[in-house]
Amino acid sequence: MFSGKTEELIRRIKRAVYGKQKVQVFKPKLDNRYDDTQVVSHSQLRLVSTPIDRAEEIFYHLDPETKVVGIDEVQFLGPDVVQVCEALASRGLRVICAGLDQDYRGRPFEPMPQLLAVAEYVTKVHAICVVCGNPANRSQRITPSPERVLVGAADAYEARCRKCHVPEPVEATPPQTLDLFEK
Ligand SMILES: [Zn+2]
Repeated sequence: MFSGKTEELIRRIKRAVYGKQKVQVFKPKLDNRYDDTQVVSHSQLRLVSTPIDRAEEIFYHLDPETKVVGIDEVQFLGPDVVQVCEALASRGLRVICAGLDQDYRGRPFEPMPQLLAVAEYVTKVHAICVVCGNPANRSQRITPSPERVLVGAADAYEARCRKCHVPEPVEATPPQTLDLFEK
């Protein structure tokens, strides 16, 4: 969130393009907050991208000439994206993923922990905490909702550091009583 993840992805993809490497960029369909077929950073840098519902679709769209695959908002593609990235990398492709590693409660956002583990290189980019100005790696939700993700609601979050992040309490599951011997 506001940390420059997408901008960093775009920067790396553009460098590959300057290097005359064929690149393809994908993003989950649910992230249509700015534009359907482009990856756009908060500062309006943009790249043409292919929206997909599932990680495997990358294989259907993959051009045999492609050398670099970029994936934005990778945390929304589910656990299968790990295998897909591994398969692409094993074919010799460079795979660059940008994603959010924690949800708004500060919990690891699957499948990011798995992706981070198998990646050769990991760069953590930080936003600036809106409360104290220190580097921020968490998203404070300022619009209450039971959903884990509020897509396209950029103003529902603000960047906070560990110290200033206030996790919302996890809703307690109502006690389930199952009385088999009810009379
Ligand atoms: Zn702070």
